[in-house]
Amino acid sequence: MTSDDESRDDADRIVTDVVCGFCGLGCDDLEVAVSGRAIRPIKACAEAARLLARPDQPPPAPRVGGQETTLAEAAAAAGRHLRGSRAAAFSGLGADLDGLRRVFDIAMTCGASFDHEASGGLFANLERLGRRGWIATTVAEVRNRCDLLVVFGPDPTLSFGHVFERLLPSAAGDADAAPLFVAGRRRRVVIIGGALSEAARRALAGQEVVEIPVPTDQVALAAQALTALLAGRAVADLPELDGIAPALVALVEPLKAAAYSVFVWNAGVLSTRDAATVAEAAAGAVDVLSVTTRAAVFPLGGRDNITGAHQAALWRFGYPLRTSVGGGTARHAPDRYATATALKDADLLLHVSAFRPGAPADFERGPVIALAHPDTVFTREPDVFIPVGTPGVDHFGHVFRMDSVVCLPLAPLRNAELPSVAAAAEAILDSLRRAA
Ligand code: SF4
Repeated sequence: MTSDDESRDDADRIVTDVVCGFCGLGCDDLEVAVSGRAIRPIKACAEAARLLARPDQPPPAPRVGGQETTLAEAAAAAGRHLRGSRAAAFSGLGADLDGLRRVFDIAMTCGASFDHEASGGLFANLERLGRRGWIATTVAEVRNRCDLLVVFGPDPTLSFGHVFERLLPSAAGDADAAPLFVAGRRRRVVIIGGALSEAARRALAGQEVVEIPVPTDQVALAAQALTALLAGRAVADLPELDGIAPALVALVEPLKAAAYSVFVWNAGVLSTRDAATVAEAAAGAVDVLSVTTRAAVFPLGGRDNITGAHQAALWRFGYPLRTSVGGGTARHAPDRYATATALKDADLLLHVSAFRPGAPADFERGPVIALAHPDTVFTREPDVFIPVGTPGVDHFGHVFRMDSVVCLPLAPLRNAELPSVAAAAEAILDSLRRAA
């Protein structure tokens, strides 16, 4: 991050090359204007612009039982609730790595299960990855080598605004964007799913785009059919695909002839069953193609640092998310500790959401502690609410990119006097230590 004019007054500070931590794609070319506490996005996708924009207002104070208080008092109240809990569930987990570490410290101290808000897609993908593995690629590999990109499902720019600019940048007017190994050639992009938005078409203007329209609930079937065709099997027994079967058949030879094909899908927008089927089919297609050429999967995901939460849980406990820890043990039970299920047995909910105003799930069985974005609108006033800053807006932090190979440093844009999740969690840990 750089400021293009350090000598100017804070009233018109323009910050360029801002790194974005919201969707997991890791764009690092955003631009904002900062004036006091106010942030006005200048260059960002629609989602990042919405989440970066801030008014020039003081942050709300922490609250206990709806009454404003200090961070220390709110942390002490949270500590009292946690000490009285026997089955706590931690949800959301939208935080930078430091915040996640401290939240996991609380879970270790008090005993709790934990899950991330966006883990549905992750676990659908893990069904294949955990069972048979797959060959996955990275943003850099797609940019530099991919000559045929197959996208299953709805337009991915609806969730990842600049995905095509990152994966297949146009070299026009930007020498840095020129791919290393497919320079001078138009890449082929095949969309098997929903129609592309105008913005997506503009981003792909330099490529050869083929759209095979498939309703979302038949994307999994289409993915299976394509893999079957690649493996030399017939799909005549799939009448639902009559309309698109010829287009799928026509894709087989280009895939076999491609130097480096990549299969992309966003499990988070498909049903759990369909997402798992698409992951299986995409990985299966790569298995078939890899005998004679290069191919890989590139699953889209990573919102609110879920990749970092997944990694941090693995480092720390040896298990992924949807694990319960405490008393020196860890137990991974993905069905039992998915947030919706865990809350049926929980007696306390601790919710973390620093990247966006994401409210906790409805919960009436015990106290709710929220370490959350200051704009969060609650359906039930939490027993303890500590407004926290956003990594990359209010404080430094690290988040993982969706391909897991890069940990991105985020820098603050303003001083809003909001504690980070790490600071709020540390205050709670401190209150627990004092009471021990
Ligand atoms: S596409 Fe994702 S990483 Fe890029 S600016 Fe938008 S929200 Fe941020």
